[in-house]
Amino acid sequence: MKIQSNEKIETLKNNVKGQIVLPDDSDYDEVREIWNAMIDRRPAVIVQCAEADDVLHALSYARENGLEISIRGAGHNIAGSALCDNGVLIDFTNMKTVSVDVQKRRAFVEPGATLGDFDKAVQAHGLATPVGINSTTGIAGLTLGGGFGWLTRKYGMTIDNLVSAEMVTAGGRKLRVSEKENKDLFWAIRGGGGNFGVVTQFEFSLHPVGPEILAGLLVFPFHQAKQVLQKHREFVKTAPEELNIWVVIRKAPPLPFLPENVHGKEVVVLAIFYAGDIEKGEKLIDSLRSFGDAYGEHIGAQPYAQWQQAFDPLLTPGARNYWKSHNLTELSDGLLDSIIEFAGKLPSPHCEIFLPLMSGAANRVPSDAMAYGHRNLQFVLNVHGRWDEGAQDEACISWARAFFEASKSYASTGVYVNFMSGDESDRVAAAYDVNYDRLKQIKKKYDPENIFHNNQNIKA
Ligand SMILES: Cc1cc2nc3c(=O)[nH]c(=O)nc-3n(C[C@H](O)[C@H](O)[C@H](O)COP(=O)(O)OP(=O)(O)OC[C@H]3O[C@@H](n4cnc5c(N)ncnc54)[C@H](O)[C@@H]3O)c2cc1C
Repeated sequence: MKIQSNEKIETLKNNVKGQIVLPDDSDYDEVREIWNAMIDRRPAVIVQCAEADDVLHALSYARENGLEISIRGAGHNIAGSALCDNGVLIDFTNMKTVSVDVQKRRAFVEPGATLGDFDKAVQAHGLATPVGINSTTGIAGLTLGGGFGWLTRKYGMTIDNLVSAEMVTAGGRKLRVSEKENKDLFWAIRGGGGNFGVVTQFEFSLHPVGPEILAGLLVFPFHQAKQVLQKHREFVKTAPEELNIWVVIRKAPPLPFLPENVHGKEVVVLAIFYAGDIEKGEKLIDSLRSFGDAYGEHIGAQPYAQWQQAFDPLLTPGARNYWKSHNLTELSDGLLDSIIEFAGKLPSPHCEIFLPLMSGAANRVPSDAMAYGHRNLQFVLNVHGRWDEGAQDEACISWARAFFEASKSYASTGVYVNFMSGDESDRVAAAYDVNYDRLKQIKKKYDPENIFHNNQNIKA
């Protein structure tokens, strides 16, 4: 670890409004923790920003001392890119304010806000915008990679609802980016991750949602997986955009609505969400029950913000995680067989195969409208390796990699950058596909020295 001169650290401390945390501080280990326990890195200086100007000081400090830079929203990224060894961590965990302009249906969001912070603030006014499904995820990383969740079929991806952002560039300039100002940078940050600068505020458009929506889980036996998945595949082709269904195949958690003898057995879960008239939704959902002989279900009207936290207990921080992911334009029978084969040999009770449904509004945006370009997707396949002990690393990582390889021939091009593990830098060009060359040009303009490289890195 590089030793920081006391004088320089004191100057940094005096300059920033937020807190500086150093390796000798008692809270250092707690502060540097991130969601994925596989990642254990030790920054030399943590700048817990309190305002945008703190970013300027952190960048100057890093430059003057020749230090690496990493940026943390809520620290959820599977690759652990929020943390660097021996460098400056620009940490936003203390900048979480979400302000809502109800008249204009706009939210102004600081980059440390979690999805839970965001949903709570906007749902107080019966408003929402599409974000992810786990409330402790950060709005910053999610948005910069693309962002999708239950509302995506109806209202598009998170980036489709980004109106503007305030940023600090590698050269230390503060900029506003939107369709009118610094358009190239606005294009790039909608999917291009943390490659182009540090975002200090996001502005989102909002839509009336709920506050009550219809949602819940319908759980089928694993031996009926093929028929359930085939029926699901057909059903969603004509389903209204208010409806979203994600398939999860995993060992059943001890959910109270499931018989005890099912707990720990492989099951096929339909996670169902309907953001429209509740009675209409109930009729629509009724047909899903004929997909098989369900073990049990728990579906009902509930607050949208509550459903946004429904998966939190399965996705708590502190476990070891390794993910692999494919983009899918269809669910072929061959892929279903592969899913079933690998779901039949889950190496830990927490491993799961997730099939988010895309389509709808997310498909109506031209693929070159912004950095994220995969606008023909019907599904994403996320192979979610998750376990507790280091001794299980080899078994769980091998399982995820083997399934990824076995299912590769059924996937379409590219990958969702936010689901990429830390060893997948060879997939970055594919992640951006037709937009990659333009991204490289914009990177050259705004970060020619690639100081923002602790990410799925776009090299100019
Ligand atoms: C349990 C779980 C559930 C998830 N569910 C979904 C889902 O439903 N939908 C979905 O789309 N994604 C989902 N994701 C993926 C998620 O979008 C990414 O992990 C995302 O990177 C998390 O954002 P964060 O701010 O917490 O990440 P961090 O780890 O804090 O940051 C990730 C990277 O983003 C960049 N970054 C962060 N903040 C800034 C900033 N202010 N300025 C510039 N760059 C910045 C940096 O490069 C940083 O390394 C999920 C992830 C997890 C772990």
